[in-house]
Amino acid sequence: MENHCCQTMTRQVNYKCEKHSNPFECPDNLIYYNDKFDEYGLIIHDGGSSSFQIEYCPWCGRKLPDSKRDL
Ligand SMILES: [Zn+2]
Ligand SMILES: [Zn+2]
Repeated sequence: MENHCCQTMTRQVNYKCEKHSNPFECPDNLIYYNDKFDEYGLIIHDGGSSSFQIEYCPWCGRKLPDSKRDL
């Protein structure tokens, strides 16, 4: 299991719901982590698959790693 900035974030990122295979369909799933780009997003539950990219952890306030998308 990969470690993130804090326990809560690690738990959220690794959260797997038994009822929803798609994290965007699960109301309990708050964070979408893109391991390809090292990006963290807050899932917007609007029925689609939108997420709002965050730079700071909402729980511990630590700065999250920079996205690797532009490298
Ligand atoms: Zn954190
Ligand atoms: Zn669920």
